Amino acid sequence: MEFSSKLLEGAVNEMSQLPGIGRRTALRLVLHLLKQPESQTVALSKALVDLKTEVKFCANCHNISDTELCEICANKSRQREVVCVVEDIRDVMAIENTSQYRGLYHVLGGKINPMEGVGPSQLTIKSLVEKARKGEIKEVIFALSSTLEGDTTNFYIFKQLEGLEIQTSTIARGISVGDELEYADEVTLGRSITNRIPFENSLKQ
Ligand SMILES: [Zn+2]
Repeated sequence: MEFSSKLLEGAVNEMSQLPGIGRRTALRLVLHLLKQPESQTVALSKALVDLKTEVKFCANCHNISDTELCEICANKSRQREVVCVVEDIRDVMAIENTSQYRGLYHVLGGKINPMEGVGPSQLTIKSLVEKARKGEIKEVIFALSSTLEGDTTNFYIFKQLEGLEIQTSTIARGISVGDELEYADEVTLGRSITNRIPFENSLKQ
């Protein structure tokens, strides 16, 4: 792609770094930004910079939060001893939308993926195990997508929790096979949380 403007080229280069945005789409978006009032582009840039510089992660569950403790962890009416392990905030949002879950979450920030160089230490597994050791947790629900990485991560955590008096369960299989949780419809996802099965049973399948 040949550009007559270095400024345009620079903006397209940056925009096309985003996932799923090819150079053509990047050019279309940049031209759109150029056409809209300056105040709107400034507002967009400011929202992104604010997000990046001011975002916090909940001290308990590691979810993205504007405060030290996220709204869910700070909510006294939630069941604190039940913890649902998820990959990221999208899973929290999907499960919250079902209104079927009253426990807390633990956001891992990814899945174990040796091919991409993601090991257990890059995720928040240690803090989950610490909470478990302190006796703060009675049940851990695995809600990672059923991919090889999801299964590996579940099993790694399951092994870490061995010997502790903690029930482990997993949301019913067949719900999100190969898909991300965020795409499961609310009713199905809600049902799979309510009808969760002991984790060990999922290993025998
Ligand atoms: Zn939290």
